Amino acid sequence: MTPVFDSKNSVCVDQPCRVKILNEMYASIKSTGLLLEVIQPNSLSEIHFGQYDPERKKYAFKTLIATILSARSKDETIIKVVEDLWKKYSTPEEIADAPLENLEELVYSSGTYHQKAIRIKETSKIIHEHFQDQVPDTLEELVKLPGVGRKVANCVLNISFDKDAIAVDIHVHRISNRIGWVTTKNPEKTEIELQKLFPQSSWKMINYTLVSFGKKICKPKNPLCSECPINKKCLKLIKPPKKSKKKTKK
Ligand code: SF4
Repeated sequence: MTPVFDSKNSVCVDQPCRVKILNEMYASIKSTGLLLEVIQPNSLSEIHFGQYDPERKKYAFKTLIATILSARSKDETIIKVVEDLWKKYSTPEEIADAPLENLEELVYSSGTYHQKAIRIKETSKIIHEHFQDQVPDTLEELVKLPGVGRKVANCVLNISFDKDAIAVDIHVHRISNRIGWVTTKNPEKTEIELQKLFPQSSWKMINYTLVSFGKKICKPKNPLCSECPINKKCLKLIKPPKKSKKKTKK
């Protein structure tokens, strides 16, 4: 199927067109570092989306804890926090039994440390007591864990269990709206719309691609539109920002 792009309205008409754009974005950012490289020791320097490494399943618990801690924090910070945490506590039972003050100290730099320490402790307790130390591999079970919303759950399903899911964080939500793929008010709606717009085979690469692309090129403020590989296919560029009205001197 040939991708169809409506250049007048700067919008893709069909799925192949959107997938083509996604691949162009991916090609421009694939060397960017990512949290997965630390979650999974000796990881790939680049993700091969079609090639799931079963080793990742072994690190599902670490992936879950790192993703809970990553809320409103930078990957670089979380990488260090998780490394330090794992030196002291690295199993669901150990984290569940760890004194809260110790956990707070270890996750302090990730921000909202008190809340995050409580969440990882409670989640670890549930995984230890109800799931025999194994992270559940369904969305329904994951979202019942403290600190686990759809974004965290979908990340874990993607990374650890190779399941087709779209983890929508602030970058995915912002860029999908900016480009004109969706017109949505919240990440939950964006996830539903993106599921309709992309074939299931592309779902896994959406989060990784848009998060990295959002950090490197399509930044929240001052996006690098002139060097953007898809700047001829972005709705933002055909909708220039409204000029602010100059105040007239009396
Ligand atoms: S053209 Fe600008 S706004 Fe559009 S995707 Fe590229 S960087 Fe983002």
